[in-house]
Amino acid sequence: MMDKPDLMEKVLDRYGIRFKPNHAGWQGIQCPDEAAHAHGDKNPSCRLNITLGLVRCMGCDLVGDGYNVMMTIENIDFLAAKEQLGKVRVEEESDWII
Ligand SMILES: [Zn+2]
Repeated sequence: MMDKPDLMEKVLDRYGIRFKPNHAGWQGIQCPDEAAHAHGDKNPSCRLNITLGLVRCMGCDLVGDGYNVMMTIENIDFLAAKEQLGKVRVEEESDWII
């Protein structure tokens, strides 16, 4: 399974959210869940900690890791998010599991 920082980077890239990849601690980013904000969150109200792979939005109820972001935005459950995000890695792992 991907670790949380990798996962978060992948999710943010997917939604075109810009962030500083080498920033330790919390940084402000545009909320990935644009729909939850008026004007698409032009004034970034989401906090990202890329070393932990976690976000917490001050303007909506988005909180958690990359899976949580994906689940919130796409309105899907954990397994569906995992499938969409982890395809490559899951296939690699299955060689070992079988
Ligand atoms: Zn938000």
